[in-house]
Amino acid sequence: MTTLAQERCYRHDLREAAGRCPSCRRYYCRECLTEHDHRLLCVACLAKLPSSQAPIRKPWRLDYAYPLVGLLLAFTLFYWLGQTLILATTEIRVVE
Ligand SMILES: [Zn+2]
Ligand SMILES: [Zn+2]
Repeated sequence: MTTLAQERCYRHDLREAAGRCPSCRRYYCRECLTEHDHRLLCVACLAKLPSSQAPIRKPWRLDYAYPLVGLLLAFTLFYWLGQTLILATTEIRVVE
């Protein structure tokens, strides 16, 4: 079993590893590790973060919600229209 002290930085062969990147699981020296979200990440993994860990934009949800709400409204309207039409036709039949 290897301890942290025996490990060397992935980028600097001569430097002792200060920690392990939880993302790529490689050992890095203090200089190569950066604290992010209360955990240490290597520079390479940190560079990848903005695209993968960017907060989910809300507008896209609305983009999907609007047609859905519109569809639901249209469905309700047509259902209501159909119901009233059925009622109207049956009423006419009753009158006849
Ligand atoms: Zn990493
Ligand atoms: Zn290093």
